[in-house]
This record gives sequence, C-alpha cells and structure tokens, in this order.
Amino acid sequence: MTRPDDVAEPDDIDPPPRESLRALFRRRRRGLGRYHGIQYWLRVRGYYILAGFAALFLANALVIGGREAYDVSVQIDSPWSTGVPALALPLSLSGWLVVTGFAGAVAGYVVSEVSDNRNIRRMRGGADTRRITHIPLLSRLQYRKHGFEIPQLFALRFALRHELDWRLAQDHWEIIVEKFLHAGEPDRSKGPRQVMWEAVLEASYVLDEMSGRCPECAAAQGAPTGGAAADAVR
Ligand SMILES: [Zn+2]
Ligand SMILES: [Zn+2]
Repeated sequence: MTRPDDVAEPDDIDPPPRESLRALFRRRRRGLGRYHGIQYWLRVRGYYILAGFAALFLANALVIGGREAYDVSVQIDSPWSTGVPALALPLSLSGWLVVTGFAGAVAGYVVSEVSDNRNIRRMRGGADTRRITHIPLLSRLQYRKHGFEIPQLFALRFALRHELDWRLAQDHWEIIVEKFLHAGEPDRSKGPRQVMWEAVLEASYVLDEMSGRCPECAAAQGAPTGGAAADAVR
C-alpha cells in the first residue's frame, strides 16, 4: 500500500478485463470480412495451400534431393529431367501457382492498401486512422483516439446492456460487426479499412437506435421468433 506507483495507477476504477490471447485471435478472425475475393480467401485458406506446398516440397526433397526440389519448384529445372517426374510434376505446377498466385495477391494488396489509406484519410480528415484495422475493442472505443465514428458513450451503454460484463459485450459486439462486414455486396472500390470503418459506424448506430436487449443476447436466450429481428428492423 505504500508503493508510490500504487497511488499513481489510474485504472483501478472498474477496469474492463484485459483481452486474452484467445479472444484476440477470435476478434482478428471475426474481422476478416473486411477483405474480399482473393485477399479474404488467402487469409482464410492460404495456410492450407502453403502447408500442402511445403509437404509436397518435403516429399520431393526426400526423393530427389533438396537442391533439385528447389530448382523444380522455381522452374529452373524441368520435372521431366528429375528421377521421379510423377512426384516432381505436381511440385513444379504448384510452385508456379503459389509463386504467381501469391505475387498477384501481394501486388493487389499493395495497390488496395495505398488507395485504402488515401480514402480513409480523405474521409476522416485529421482523425487518427492508424488504429482502424480489426474490429475494435469496446473498451478502446471509450477513449477518444480510436479513429472510428460511433454514437456518444456507445461502448459504455452497450456494456451496460450486459450488466457491465465486458467480455460478453465484446463477444456480442464482434458477432454483430462481423455480420455487418459480410452484409451487402462487396464493393471493390473500398479497401479493408474503409469497410471496417463503415461496418463499425453502421453497427454502432443501429445498436444505439435499438431499444431493449442486445439482439445477440435475445438470440442466445431463444427469444420468440421475430422478436430480435423485429427489433432490428424497427
Ligand atoms: Zn464479405
Ligand atoms: Zn448481448
């Protein structure tokens, strides 16, 4: 009790709990809807492709040697010139697909990132736009520098609807934002941050206008059909 930093600590008034690593990964996964097309697909399925390619490479390295497997996968050597074309041919083909596919995706990513940053800065003026990436934490939205546009005291009011259970409120908030991310036609002119910014804007204003319970709470408790939906429409 006598340590001076105990006194200086400002956050012992009702602090929202720290986000666990598991919750962080869940939040990031739920925010992937801000991407579309190949960018979305690579983030959701890209790891399987890479793992498959790695397995194929390893199998080839064991049979025809690492050096040869490398030369085949980057198209230096023809698979037919190896000892086992049946194994080297899929490696050559998938090497070409992975390299061109990922190069294309990276090029597309760079282009969309540049225009996304420009668009979001134009929309938001001088506001802090660097933080606009994932679905925001409700506890973050309580502070000023989050870069999003939300109704006054939105985060606190949404937490109050959950009896200040910030974890539950955050879970439901993410589910709702995810739905907004996937709602409507994907617009290729919008980059991922602009999509996220708009989803947060729409979700927060719709929730703020709704009376009564959080729609996810109502759904979880098996509200009579039409209850939550009717609320959402009204
Ligand atoms: Zn989508
Ligand atoms: Zn809820």
